[in-house]
Parts: sequence; C-alpha cells; structure tokens
Amino acid sequence: CTAPSPAAEPPKDKFLGGGLLSAAFDEASCLSRSQSSLYRKPSNDTPSPYLIDRLRRYETLHKRCGPNTELYKKAVEQLKSNRSTGPSECNYVVWLPADGLGNRIISITSAFLYALLNDKVLLLDLPHDMGDLFCEPFPDTSWVLPADFPIDNRNWIFEKDPHSYGNMLKSEVLSNDMDIADASSLPAYLYLHLLHANDEYDKMFYCEEGQRLLRKFPWLLLRSNEYFVPAFFFVPEFEEELGLLFPEKATVFRHLGRYLFNPSNSVWGYITRYYDAYLASAKAKLGIQIRIFAFANVEFDVMASQIINCSMTQKLLPEVDLKDSAPPVIAGAQPKAVLVTSLLDGYFEKLRNMYYEHATTTGEVIGVYQPSHEEHQHTEKLSHNMKAFAEIYLLSLSDELITSPFSTFGYVAHGLGGLRPWILVRSDNRNPSCVRSMSAEPCFHFPPSYDCKTRRKVDKGSVVPFVRHCEDFFLGIKIS
Ligand code: GDP
Repeated sequence: CTAPSPAAEPPKDKFLGGGLLSAAFDEASCLSRSQSSLYRKPSNDTPSPYLIDRLRRYETLHKRCGPNTELYKKAVEQLKSNRSTGPSECNYVVWLPADGLGNRIISITSAFLYALLNDKVLLLDLPHDMGDLFCEPFPDTSWVLPADFPIDNRNWIFEKDPHSYGNMLKSEVLSNDMDIADASSLPAYLYLHLLHANDEYDKMFYCEEGQRLLRKFPWLLLRSNEYFVPAFFFVPEFEEELGLLFPEKATVFRHLGRYLFNPSNSVWGYITRYYDAYLASAKAKLGIQIRIFAFANVEFDVMASQIINCSMTQKLLPEVDLKDSAPPVIAGAQPKAVLVTSLLDGYFEKLRNMYYEHATTTGEVIGVYQPSHEEHQHTEKLSHNMKAFAEIYLLSLSDELITSPFSTFGYVAHGLGGLRPWILVRSDNRNPSCVRSMSAEPCFHFPPSYDCKTRRKVDKGSVVPFVRHCEDFFLGIKIS
C-alpha cells in the first residue's frame, strides 16, 4: 500500500487563509492555486478580512478595465491622442521588466501594492522568457499587456526618456504642486524610473506630493528592480489603509506574493515532482540558497566553511564525527533533507559528500539534494526561469532557510515561505557566519534618503519602529 501523495488528500485550506485567492477560477487551468496549501505549513498569520475584500474589489476593477474591454480600448485611444484628459474611469500602471526573476517578482509585488493603494490597474509587459511562469492572478481577465499596446519603444525607455517623471521634474516641465486645471497641457503618460540607480528626482515618487500628482495620469509606465513597498509606509495618507490591509506589517510580501505568483501548471509540475520525490518524506527540510555575485566574489572554500559553520552553530544541521566512531544510525529513521540551490554544484557536492563519508554525531541521516546547476544566469530563456521559479518555490517550502546576502532570489523564497532566514552575511572574521533576519520581508536596497517634508537627509531606518536597516545591506530598509 502506498501513502497518498499530498495532491490526493483533501485540501486543508484551499484558498489560503480563508479567501486570499479568489474561488472564481477553473481549477484545472492552475493546479497550484488549489494544491499549494497541501505543501505549505498552516500559518497563524492569515490575511486580514480587509485585505481579502480589497483584493476582490481590485479583481472587479481589473475585469472592468482589463485588456479587451471597452474601457481599455477607450483609454488606449486617449493614449494615442498624445494628450492627457486627467484621471479617467480606468487608470493604468504598466510594469516593465528589469534584471533577474527575483528582481522582477519583488518589483511586480511593489507595483501591485501601488496600484491597489491608488485604484489603478496593473498590466505587465511580460517578455517571452516569463511567458509560462505564473497563472493569471485575476479571474476572467488578464494582467498581460496586449501586444498591440501603442507605446512600442518600451524596451528602450529609461531615465532619459522625454516622458520620465524625474527628468521632467528636474527640467521644471512638471512640478508636484502644479495646478492642473487644464489637463490637456499634460503628456498622455509618464515613465517612473524606479531602478536602483535612480536620482532624488525620480525618488519623488515616494513622496506624498509626487503620489498626488501621479494620480492625475491615466497611464504610467514603471520600471523597477526593487522592493519599494517599505516606502509606502512613510506616506501619511496611506498609513490608515496599510494598517487595515496588513495589521501584521511584516506579512506584506507573504500575502501579496502568494496571491500574485501561483506557479503555472508547467512549473507546478517541476515543483511537485521534485518535492514528492526528494522532500516529502523528510522529517525536516532545510533550504540553503547560495548566490555568488561577480562584484563580490568569494573563494569556494571560504564560502563552503561559512555555510557549514552557520548550519552547525545555529543547530540547523548536525555535526559529523570525523573519527567515524559515531553510533550507527537508527534503522528506518526519517532523514532530514537539505535542499541546496545554486548556479554551481560545488557546494552541494561538498555537503553531500560530508554526510555520505561521515556519520553524524546525533545518529541522524541527512539527504542533500540540488534540483539543477545552470552554471550561468540566462534570464532571457524561459526554460531557465522555470527552473529558477521552481527552486525559489521549493526553498519557500522549507522549515528553515539559509540565504545569501543581497539576493532577491533568496528574498522571494523566504518572503513566500513567511520564513525568517539565516543570512550568510559577509564579515571578515566570519564570526558570526550568519545572522537571523528580523522578518521574512525582502529588503528595499536603495530607498530615498531625503525626508519629503523637510528635504533634509534622514536615516529611513530609524524613523518608525517597524522599518529597520537590512541585516545584509545597511543602506537598505525592510519591514520588520
Ligand atoms: P539576484 O540576482 O540574486 O538578486 O536574483 P535574481 O533572481 O534577480 O537573478 C538571478 C538569476 O540567476 C535567477 O533569476 C536565475 O535565473 C539565476 N539563478 C541564480 N541562482 C540560482 C539558483 O540557485 N537556481 C537557479 N535555477 N537559478 C539561479
């Protein structure tokens, strides 16, 4: 007799936390929506009823204004006319991609919260390399920008674009407090340059006065590689709404990420095949994400010792008995699984060999697994990104996580899992070899450094108690 696979059991909480996901979907088109709760541990931090209600309202708006609707066609005609008519019934924010999958997921999440807070409709300019990663999150409509969208130079729109909000502020063509009685004098759309290397003019987006002006534009294009959610917590007019949406502040990514990024059936296949084959029967699962950046290269042996030190000092993995006099393992003992993800296979091999060649001092058995080692980043390939998303998702199903500093790949894994990872912070003396993250939230690497009101430099990590500097990157801030 074989144990039932998770997929065969009745769902525990099919629509996550009592309704985070809409029930108005055809289940077969997106199996992960109804099956993901079978793979995740139940959590006490359920989404607030207010968030659930706002998501249902957003879905109604998106359905009314989304691609192929009369209102969408009308808005596109207005855009083609090259003149603004001021805010209209449907107002859009079009997300443009930048960098790897982790960067893209955190910036889509931020753009979605921006849309939610401003009653705008989020559309994604999805490149083909992201074509089959996620299910559509909103029922009976699509979040994909139609191919015939009239602004067709989108791949080349950056900070110097004539429609750039920051640029227009700098050249005083636009000012945040301008009286716009005659909207026809405004451009039909603005571009928001929210990449990490933007300037203080672009960053006016994060100020209340900037937000107010941007509400007057029916079309905004936005490019970002960052998790800019924490910035909204500094805009006074969003305070109350954010408090209602997220009574537990450090759960923003967990709820919005699980709502938006349900793996497509193809990616769900990768995830469930791997999970059922290697991880399902483990008594505990430790995920280890290793990302080596070219700009901060670390020698293999140094990194490997750091990972092993972290695992052992934090008691995430048992020590090995180098004298091989450890007691024999208890027959039939359930193994502990270690899921390693990395572009390289050396770290995996080192760990696997260590637990193959030596017994543990506790008698436990450790299985070490790595789904792929792609060697190099190939964000332009869909098949590569499918593996990347599958691995991010598998990491998020761990009980404990060790992640690499500064990596948005790791941020998405711990954010989706609602896990506070152990971060392999760089330190010269390797002591400590890792630190525990304050929360499961991603880090906003390059937040504005100016106070909107006083225009003075301010330390954004010490303004409110729930936004702090990130452990892995001191310039950054995160919700905790
Ligand atoms: P970041 O650069 O670490 O912030 O993360 P990104 O996800 O934005 O970009 C890194 C990209 O490299 C990923 O999206 C993958 O394409 C690839 N990559 C990095 N680490 C891994 C890994 O552990 N597994 C897989 N499959 N791909 C990875």
